[in-house]
Amino acid sequence: MKNPFDLTGKTAVVTGANTGLGRSIAVALAEAGAGIVAVGRSAMDETERLCREAGVAFHAVQADLSSLEPIERTVAEAVAGGGRIDILVNNAGIIRRADAIDFSEKDWDDVMNVNLKSTFFLTQAAARTMLADGLGGKIINIASLLSFQGGIRIPSYTASKSGLAGLTRLLACEWAAKGINVNAIAPGYFVTNNTEALRDDPKRSSEILGRIPAGRWGDPGDLGGAAVFLASAAADYVHGIVLPVDGGWLAR
Ligand code: NAD
Repeated sequence: MKNPFDLTGKTAVVTGANTGLGRSIAVALAEAGAGIVAVGRSAMDETERLCREAGVAFHAVQADLSSLEPIERTVAEAVAGGGRIDILVNNAGIIRRADAIDFSEKDWDDVMNVNLKSTFFLTQAAARTMLADGLGGKIINIASLLSFQGGIRIPSYTASKSGLAGLTRLLACEWAAKGINVNAIAPGYFVTNNTEALRDDPKRSSEILGRIPAGRWGDPGDLGGAAVFLASAAADYVHGIVLPVDGGWLAR
């Protein structure tokens, strides 16, 4: 029987692939057979090493997604490097923490620009190439538990990730009939830079751990399978979902 999760011959663009969840998603897609175009601000040597070890092509695109300036170039370089964009994973994201009452305009704008604005316009630019050759594609947005819940002290992050869940559904509705699947993954609490401040705070850290049914924080490697699924033919009839990978947090 043909393996429905096989990504051989596909090219996946992964933003923020130099660390954390982005690296682990890139490696999982590579291990499923996809060539990788890694997009990020800084060197992606370790991601490149791991993807090449999986035996696939690897291209790096340097881009700072805090503005729209690199969007067209990123897509052009991705197409030049990978042939076409079959899969886009919008993983790059930032978080700023402060009480809502004190929250600054800069911390609002910085987070919205990377997490929502650049994500939308990169998706639009990539989808134009997918629609132009009629071969469709898979788009995966990295959402959050804050796509479902309020959280505390992260107003722009919660707004951006809640917005991203809505955007995922809107794009799915517009593009499902055109061969593009748009879905999202909502990671729970994973051990990455993003959650360092929480893990460094003994009270918050034990509160969080205490409510995760799986009894542990997520390891970045826990996310790869969900990304491979949504990137593969196994998900051809899956549109507009936000798939939690959270150790059971939302079930609680
Ligand atoms: P991380 O800080 O290690 O990774 C964030 C990535 O985004 C990095 O590669 C970083 O270079 C990139 N990035 C940030 N700003 C950028 C910019 N201006 N231009 C280009 N790249 C930029 O943390 P992570 O946990 O791996 O985060 C990855 C994604 O997962 C984010 O969208 C985050 O919101 C989301 N997420 C993480 C968790 C968690 O528990 N770690 C939970 C839910 C969602």
